[in-house]
Amino acid sequence: MATYNPSSLRAEEFINHEEILETLAYAEANKNNVALIDQILEKARPKPNGGGVTCQGLTHREASVLLACEIPEKIEEMYKIAEEIKLAFYGNRIVIFAPLYLSNYCINGCLYCPYHLKNKTIPRKKLTQEEIRQEVIALQDMGHKRLAIEAGEDPKNNPIEYILECIKTIYSVNHKNGAIRRVNVNIAATTVENYRKLRDAGIGTYILFQETYHKESYEYLHPTGPKRDYAYHTEAMDRAMEGGIDDVGLGVLFGLEGYKYEFAGLLMHAEHLEAVHGVGPHTISVPRVKKADDIDPNEFDNSIDDDTFAKITACIRLAVPYTGMIISTRESEEVRSRLLRLGISQVSGGSRTSVGGYTEEERPHDTEQFDVSDQRSLDEVVKWLMDSGHIPSFCTACYREGRTGDRFMSLCKNGQILNCCHPNALMTLTEYLVDYASDETKKVGFETIEQELQRIPKEKVRGIAEKNIEDIKNSNRRDFRF
Ligand code: SAM
Repeated sequence: MATYNPSSLRAEEFINHEEILETLAYAEANKNNVALIDQILEKARPKPNGGGVTCQGLTHREASVLLACEIPEKIEEMYKIAEEIKLAFYGNRIVIFAPLYLSNYCINGCLYCPYHLKNKTIPRKKLTQEEIRQEVIALQDMGHKRLAIEAGEDPKNNPIEYILECIKTIYSVNHKNGAIRRVNVNIAATTVENYRKLRDAGIGTYILFQETYHKESYEYLHPTGPKRDYAYHTEAMDRAMEGGIDDVGLGVLFGLEGYKYEFAGLLMHAEHLEAVHGVGPHTISVPRVKKADDIDPNEFDNSIDDDTFAKITACIRLAVPYTGMIISTRESEEVRSRLLRLGISQVSGGSRTSVGGYTEEERPHDTEQFDVSDQRSLDEVVKWLMDSGHIPSFCTACYREGRTGDRFMSLCKNGQILNCCHPNALMTLTEYLVDYASDETKKVGFETIEQELQRIPKEKVRGIAEKNIEDIKNSNRRDFRF
């Protein structure tokens, strides 16, 4: 039997089944242990450090105890600490992105995904480079600067060369003042050599959802295709990092397996990356299974309610305080509003999950990957964020300044967000307001920017940001960033 070893490169050792079972038993035994829960909450709490604050994070065992806890006052305390951590390291900024579906050709048999090979009802579509250009123009006209590209796994239809060509096309489009400045990539697990090619193409984060950490369920849910290989999939982030990609994004698809098992596995994966590569995941996504073409989410009996979902989000925030957290338009406005307070730092907006969906007048459903719950336009999402005290950020500076991997983490850990990310967020928000926003959003936006500029601690930085914002308003554009 494999033993638990976070530093091992073998999936069955760093995501060790026995260790997860022991963790769940330990969490269950201690779920009402108030003294232990208080001790763990105390450990998670941000502490003053020099002029700033610091956080220790939690181990998968500690965080699993919090997740198991059912004492209402303690859960409230978790939520409070999650919000404190979020504000301490990420501030009130929320980074905005959109998915771009390149192709739904896929040779895998994933039981939860409508793109699976045996689905004969869904039309198959792969964008040409000209169609990508049109999609990117549509996305730029909405105001997007950051994309996550998505594709099924199909070596014939979507080989790595196709993906690389698409990335090149996306970066090459400059429509009016538009530009896509960061392309994150969500494609199937691949080789070190292919990850190196993606790195050389200038991608941002490489995202790959584990779907489930439970090996037996994983094999059941992936009956056919290359994705069936649990170890190859689970070890993908190590290959990505070996290929020079500094920022990787984890996630599980909640609903497929028991959430407590997934939660422990997810945190063990983060601990493994930290142990082996010296830096944890750049982001963690928390998708839930949704209705889709031939997929009924009720067929998966591990669905979680909104309260459990909120608790998972808060517990992740406490465990990995420096990792960005993403919530997509799979979730409704109501759920997204709640989770924003518990640690989410990135949201998608105005998303279409079909291949070629952005160039259509009406939201097309034919090639859609899943139902979008939050169907608001990007302008509505931007205004909603500001109305609820957040700063929508279109910033992509870190990766363009080489602040990836541990260099981003140290910026975050040193509490420099207010002197760096905050002004960047305000400048990119100004670009958005000037170029794309409705009058109503503009009004709220410029008032918000005025107030938020005053929160930049360093006078010199504040002065430069103010000057840059004036320049943007006066159509004097440069590549503004700190
Ligand atoms: N083909 C790549 C792969 O297998 O990793 C790319 C990912 S796919 C386009 C993006 C993600 O969508 C999947 O990893 C999965 O978690 C999620 N997904 C698939 N079917 C879904 C559904 N019915 N509801 C919600 N999310 C779904």
